[in-house]
Amino acid sequence: MKNQISMKTALSREVKALKIWSKYTNIIGIIILTKLFSKGAPFVTMYLSARVINLLSAGAAKDSIVKMVILTLAVTAVLSIISTFLQKWKDLVSEGFWETSYKILADKKASMDFVDADSQKVADLISQIRQNNNWAGWGLYRSMATFETLMDALVTIICGTLLSVELFLLPVVSGKFSFLNNPLFAVVLIAVMVINSVLGGFINNIHEREWASYAEEARFGNRAFGAYGWFSNDISRAADIRLYRQDKITIKYMRQSDSFTETCSLAKKFRGKFGLFSFVKFGVQNIGNGIIYLFVCLKAWAGAFPIGSATQYIGAVTGVFMGVNSLLGALEEIRTNGKFLEDTFEYMDYPNNMYQGSLTTEKRRDTHYEVEFKNVSFKYPGSENYALKNVNLKFTVGEKLAVVGMNGSGKTTFIKLLCRLYDPTEGAIYLNGIDIKKYRYDEYMNIFAIVFQDFKLFAMPLGENVATSTDYDREEVTRCLEKAGFSDRLKKLPKGLDTFLYKNLDKEGVDVSGGEAQKIAIARALYKDAPFVILDEPTAALDPVAEAEIYSKFNDIVGDKTAVYISHRLSSCKFCDEIAVFHEGAVIQKGTHEQLLADPKGKYYELWNAQAQYYNEEIEEAS
Ligand code: ADP
Repeated sequence: MKNQISMKTALSREVKALKIWSKYTNIIGIIILTKLFSKGAPFVTMYLSARVINLLSAGAAKDSIVKMVILTLAVTAVLSIISTFLQKWKDLVSEGFWETSYKILADKKASMDFVDADSQKVADLISQIRQNNNWAGWGLYRSMATFETLMDALVTIICGTLLSVELFLLPVVSGKFSFLNNPLFAVVLIAVMVINSVLGGFINNIHEREWASYAEEARFGNRAFGAYGWFSNDISRAADIRLYRQDKITIKYMRQSDSFTETCSLAKKFRGKFGLFSFVKFGVQNIGNGIIYLFVCLKAWAGAFPIGSATQYIGAVTGVFMGVNSLLGALEEIRTNGKFLEDTFEYMDYPNNMYQGSLTTEKRRDTHYEVEFKNVSFKYPGSENYALKNVNLKFTVGEKLAVVGMNGSGKTTFIKLLCRLYDPTEGAIYLNGIDIKKYRYDEYMNIFAIVFQDFKLFAMPLGENVATSTDYDREEVTRCLEKAGFSDRLKKLPKGLDTFLYKNLDKEGVDVSGGEAQKIAIARALYKDAPFVILDEPTAALDPVAEAEIYSKFNDIVGDKTAVYISHRLSSCKFCDEIAVFHEGAVIQKGTHEQLLADPKGKYYELWNAQAQYYNEEIEEAS
C-alpha cells in the first residue's frame, strides 16, 4: 500500500475524478438534487410532526391540529414522491457505470499515441487500475460512490443542525434544572458528539484502510483468479485442458495465495481485532445517544420546550451524529480512494506527444495518391537497435508493391510507420508531397484498409463483422464477401449475413476455420473501400501454395487500388509491379521479380532459391 496522502490531495483527486465523470454523464447534478430531497425530506417531516405533537400536548383546537396533520401528510407525500422519482432517475442514469468506468479507460487508450498504448508501462498501469477496480471498485468507480456518501452526510448535518439549534437556545425558566442553561452544557454535548463521531469515524477508517491495504496482499490471488478463474469456460482451450489436465496445475496457482479463504489474514482480523472495534464503536455510539436523550428529556421536563420539540431535537441531534460519522467515513474513503486514483490519473494524463496535423485527406475517387519514404529510420522506444534504417521507397497510384524479406527484417515496422502508429525517428513519410504528420490523423487512417497478421473478428453477425457497423449496405457486404471467396459458405449459413460468428452470444452461431476467417477479414478491408489496401501476411496460418493463390487472386480483387503485399514468402508476391527486399531494416533491393532474379548475387536470388526448394517439396507432397 502506498503511503497516506493528505486530505487536500485526496479531495483534489476526488474533484478531478468527478470532472472526468461529468464528461460522460450528468449524474453529479442528479445526485445533489436527489440527496437534497431524500435526505432533507425526513427532517421536514420530523419538524412538522413535532408541531403536531406540540399542538396535541398543548390541548390546541381540533381545527388547527387537523390542519397541521393534513399539512404534514401532504408535504411528506409530495416530498416522498419527488424523492422516489429522483432516486429512480439516479438509479437509471447510474445503470452501467461499471462499464462506463471501463469505457473511460478505453477511450483514453484509443486516443493515446500508439507508441504509448502499445507500451508495457501502459499495459501495467491498466492492469493495476483493473485490479483495483475489481477489488472493491477502487478508483474512478468508487469516486462516484464516495461523492454520494459525502452528499448524504452534508445534507444530513445541515438539516440536523438547523433543527437542533433551538435545543441549546431555549432556556429552562427556573428551578433545579436551570443548570441546564449553562452554555458549558452545550459545549459538553458538542464534545460528546465530536468524540463519538471521531471515534466512530476512526474505527471505520481503520476498517477501510485494512480493506484497502489488503488489495496489495490479495494482488497475486486476484491475478491468479483473473488468469485462471474462468478458463474452463474458454471453449478454445477445451481440448488442451482435457488432454493435459491443465485444471489441476492451475488450481495450484489459485490456491498459492491464501487471499480468499477462511484462514486468510483478513478473515482472521475480522474475527478478532475488528470484532472488538465494532463492539467499542457501537458502545460509544449508544452512550452518546443516551447522553443526548437525557439532556433533551431533562430540558423538556423542566419546561424549556414542549414534548413535540423534544422528539424533533432528539431526531435532529442523532441525525447530526450520524451525519458527522458518515462525513468522516466519506472523507477517509476519499483519502483511501485518492491513493488508487494515482494510477488512474497517471494513465488518464498520459500526454499525446505525436504532432496532430489538421490537413484533410478526403478520399479521392481517382485514388490519386503517392506515398514516399525519405531516409526513414526508426528505433522502437527503449530499443537501441534500428528496426528500419534509411528506407527510401516510393509507390504510386494503382501500383502493386510487395515488401518481402525474412522474419524480423522490418516489414511490419514499415507498415506501422506508414499508418502513423509510430513516427519515424529520422526522415519523413510523405503523402502527395506533404509530411503525413500534417494530416488529420483520423482522416489519414481512413485511406488505409489493412488485413493484419493477427486480425480479429467479433462474436457478432457476419454482416456487422464485415462492415464494423450495425447499419450497413447488405448488397455491398455480400459483394465484398463474394470477392473474398466466401460466397459458397455464405450460401450455406442459416441466417446469411445475420448469422452470428462463434457461439459466445448466440448458440446457433457458427465457427469458422482459419481460412474462412481470413476471407471475412479481407472482405472487411474491401468494404472499407480505402485507396490503399495492405495485406500483412494475413495468410501466415496457410501453406505457401495457398498463400500465393490468395495473393494473386487478391490482385484481381483490388483492381486499380494501391495494394501493398507483405510476406516472407517470395513466391506470393512475384506478380507485383515492384518488389522491395527488406533485410535487417534496410531496403537492399528493388525491382520486378524478373529483374531481381536476374542478379545471382542479390538477396532475392538467394532467398528465392532457398524457398523454391521448399515450395517444390510442398507441391510434390500435395500432388
Ligand atoms: P518483420 O515484419 O519483417 O518480421 P518487424 O518489423 O516485426 O519484422 O521487426 C523488425 C525488427 O524490430 C525486429 O528486430 C524486431 O525484433 C523489432 N521489433 C518489432 N516490434 C518491436 C517492438 N514492439 N519493440 C521493440 N522491437 C521490436
